[in-house]
Amino acid sequence: MKQNNTFRICPLASGSKGNCVFVSTPETAVLVDAGLSGVEIEKRLTLVGQTPEQLDGIIITHEHSDHVRGAGILSRRFNIPVYVTPQTYAACKNLGKIDLVNFFECGTSFCLDQLQVAPFSISHDATDPAGLTLSFGENKIGIATDLGIVTELVKEHLKNCQVLYIESNHDPEMLLNGSYPWFLKQRVKSRTGHLSNMDTRALLTEILGQELDPVKPILQHVILAHLSEENNCPKKAAIEVAKGLNGSGIVLHVAGPDHPGEMIRLSLGANRV
Ligand SMILES: [Zn+2]
Ligand SMILES: [Zn+2]
Repeated sequence: MKQNNTFRICPLASGSKGNCVFVSTPETAVLVDAGLSGVEIEKRLTLVGQTPEQLDGIIITHEHSDHVRGAGILSRRFNIPVYVTPQTYAACKNLGKIDLVNFFECGTSFCLDQLQVAPFSISHDATDPAGLTLSFGENKIGIATDLGIVTELVKEHLKNCQVLYIESNHDPEMLLNGSYPWFLKQRVKSRTGHLSNMDTRALLTEILGQELDPVKPILQHVILAHLSEENNCPKKAAIEVAKGLNGSGIVLHVAGPDHPGEMIRLSLGANRV
């Protein structure tokens, strides 16, 4: 199943009901987060032509159940190693007993077979939350959801990615006028909450502003992730974020909660698909 000669990413689920992203190189396949039930993740892998047996690791970004729910069961059922920081592992209530645990530290890169994984700290109300870049050869995929603010560290890591899987959680007006209780609105907006569509647009504008060749940017695909079903809508998020990409030719995708998104393939060694 690992014969495909590309670096690939496919969102299997995104949002507060569960998060799970499939990433593979020709020899290595991983999940970043496993926040659906084990059965549902298996089903979604099948829908995109993959199997749990081929997975070489499950990387956990933080302990919230929408990121962890199926990790323990998948690890036990298919002997898949779990990659997690010691603090997040200690804070995970529902992992169960895991025999195959590999610890990483935010700020220290590690190899997961063919993948070079660079975890970095993000600002979120979890014990030791991480964003990640996953590199294979010259190609790099950036993954950052569940962050209240974009720090310099986050910007530095997300530079020079071909694909960015980035949170675009809420529309500030919808959040303000929505049905969430006030404390929850405050939590979402806080420095340890979630990025708004505008925050994400500003981040992308900044990243693109630093590209050496703005006519032919390194960034090719942006996948908007972790959209709130209550305080956002895919169309609104896409319209707002597209303002930051103006005419660059970057393809904008929106990951959703109910079914897998498109399998995005990067040609190896090339800066363009
Ligand atoms: Zn989350
Ligand atoms: Zn979270």
